[in-house]
Amino acid sequence: MHPDFVYLDNAATSWPKPDAVAVAMSEFLSTRAGNPGRGGHALARAAAETVEIAREKLAALINAPTPKRVVLTHGCTDAINQAIQGVIHSASKCAGGKKPHIVTTAIEHNAVLRTLHSFKCDGLLEMTIVPCDSEGTMSPDRIADACTPCTELVAVSHASNVLGTIQPIHEIMLAVRAKCPEVLFMVDAAQTAGHFSVDVQRDDIDLLTLAGHKGLRGPTGTGALYVGPRAYPDCCTNTRMCCERRGGTGAIAPGLEMPTTLPDALEAGTANAVGFAGLVAAMGTLCESQHRTEMMHTKRLLDGLLGIPNVTVYGKETTEGRTPVVLFNIKGMCARDAGKILDEQHHIAVRGGVHCAPELHNAIGTKSDGGVRVSPGCTTTEDQIDCFLEAVRSMASTPAMS
Ligand code: PMP
Repeated sequence: MHPDFVYLDNAATSWPKPDAVAVAMSEFLSTRAGNPGRGGHALARAAAETVEIAREKLAALINAPTPKRVVLTHGCTDAINQAIQGVIHSASKCAGGKKPHIVTTAIEHNAVLRTLHSFKCDGLLEMTIVPCDSEGTMSPDRIADACTPCTELVAVSHASNVLGTIQPIHEIMLAVRAKCPEVLFMVDAAQTAGHFSVDVQRDDIDLLTLAGHKGLRGPTGTGALYVGPRAYPDCCTNTRMCCERRGGTGAIAPGLEMPTTLPDALEAGTANAVGFAGLVAAMGTLCESQHRTEMMHTKRLLDGLLGIPNVTVYGKETTEGRTPVVLFNIKGMCARDAGKILDEQHHIAVRGGVHCAPELHNAIGTKSDGGVRVSPGCTTTEDQIDCFLEAVRSMASTPAMS
């Protein structure tokens, strides 16, 4: 890596990880790396203990009523697929031929949009994508208006991964519940977990998905799905979500049926225990001052970019109600080219393109080329932000390339 390398792509995955992550993962591999939940021996028990600590920490983070309702996954996409597929298959079985209707939004990541689209193409659901405004904010009333008596699920991102705009999820929940009290409310917290408060009880969330490798600063391949009682009642009957992955869980081993109790019902296969050992260590280092640092850098970035001629900044012009993410373009320069120049000539890592969120780029007028996303982290320095702004200034002052 170049000695002056600057990493500003924390919305994709946070980096560097806290030193404690590598230490914990190495320690886990040398002393605890049995198969969690399989076999009663000491090494299997030690691995299971690590996995359960991760579950407890994640449950506390999102204020889940019990850790049992936190299903460990291989990332946020994995959690979203389990949630959406599980709900659709369950609803299709019960609907007597009527297709379930799903409401989602223009700010969603492809993890949600492509999953829903493929089911729509298979004729298994009807779906409405509610538009956002030019700052990437969703209107609670427009989401509620899109709900019909057939709506089974409303799926909303807590924050846009492109513009950083945080959504009024409490107000969305209230508006949706007022119209359809029993609808399942799903929130994708990939971009907010670790940065902002996520509380499944306060916001009456039925399904919450998160990634361990972004704001929580853990390793890739870790994530979680919270499953609330409306989706999966305590009695484990009349569930509105089926398991999408079947196999061994370590529990009730002799039967051919999947266990019905959470989390085992939705957690077949060996967990990424070493990843969760790293995630536990990462979560132990999180503190409020990190978030303040990230937002201070975001303000410096915004103010700096807004002052550079030939640069367009998208979304809100302030740090109010946003994650540490800024999207911009340089006049006459394709976003991918800008990202490439920043990488190859300035050793600065950002992400140019459409960021797996095509509907959002459509809404803000950047559908063809996308934009350049810059996302500082808590270890970013002020000098690095200034170095990035200087690079953009020089790129924006040279003749257009494309
Ligand atoms: N949802 C959003 C809003 C995201 O930003 C991302 C990751 N870019 C995902 C889902 C998918 O997360 P993962 O990489 O953990 O699968």
